Amino acid sequence: MLNVVERGRGWVEVICGCMFSGKTEELIRRLRRARIAQQAAVVFKPSIDDRYDVEDVVSHSEQRIPSIPVKTARDIQEKAGDAQVIGIDEAQFIEGDLLTIVRRLADSGRRVIIAGLDTDYRGEPFEPIPQLMCEAEFVTKLTAVCHKCGAPAHRTQRIGGGSERVLVGGQALYEARCRQCWEPPTKTGEPAGQGRLFNGTSGEDKKL
Ligand code: ADP
Ligand code: MG
Ligand code: ZN
Repeated sequence: MLNVVERGRGWVEVICGCMFSGKTEELIRRLRRARIAQQAAVVFKPSIDDRYDVEDVVSHSEQRIPSIPVKTARDIQEKAGDAQVIGIDEAQFIEGDLLTIVRRLADSGRRVIIAGLDTDYRGEPFEPIPQLMCEAEFVTKLTAVCHKCGAPAHRTQRIGGGSERVLVGGQALYEARCRQCWEPPTKTGEPAGQGRLFNGTSGEDKKL
């Protein structure tokens, strides 16, 4: 269903969930299928997210797809060209009015697929993903595996760093946690639960 692009008909898909829930993998899967269907597809990612690669979109499982790094929503509009399918990874880090640009692209007949965190490490809605979920025809919410107990996880636990909302990092800074195992940060925003059970690897974590 989602791969049939009727000419002149656009729509919005949102893929959301906590870190490690497979959002980027799912975005890559949908874009590959669009290309198999011979649809012109382009992928954007925020230039802030250079965890694995400056240009490619890369999942935690090392699947990758070439992308265009951008800073603002306006950059996406300018660089989308005639692409029929437009993917955006880590959309919560794109600056500017992404909702308006996404609406405009879908209204002009494009299929727009957005992947992003629906909540931040405090468990609060992470704009503009909630607004984009309301705009979308199709919403997929994924869960990860809780790093502590193995249950389905829908929360991101920050296990290091400070209290800034945007702190790009991988397994050295974040874990997926279920409702029971997630520990809310302190009132000042300091991450709780610094202890780690899972000893993953990641590149350098980058403070922003
Ligand atoms: P997201 O974009 O949602 O952060 P990715 O698509 O980049 O997630 O990565 C998903 C992959 O991460 C999984 O297929 C798996 O290989 C790996 N992974 C590592 N830790 C976990 C975890 N706790 N739960 C689920 N997948 C994990
Ligand atoms: Mg991702
Ligand atoms: Zn758990």
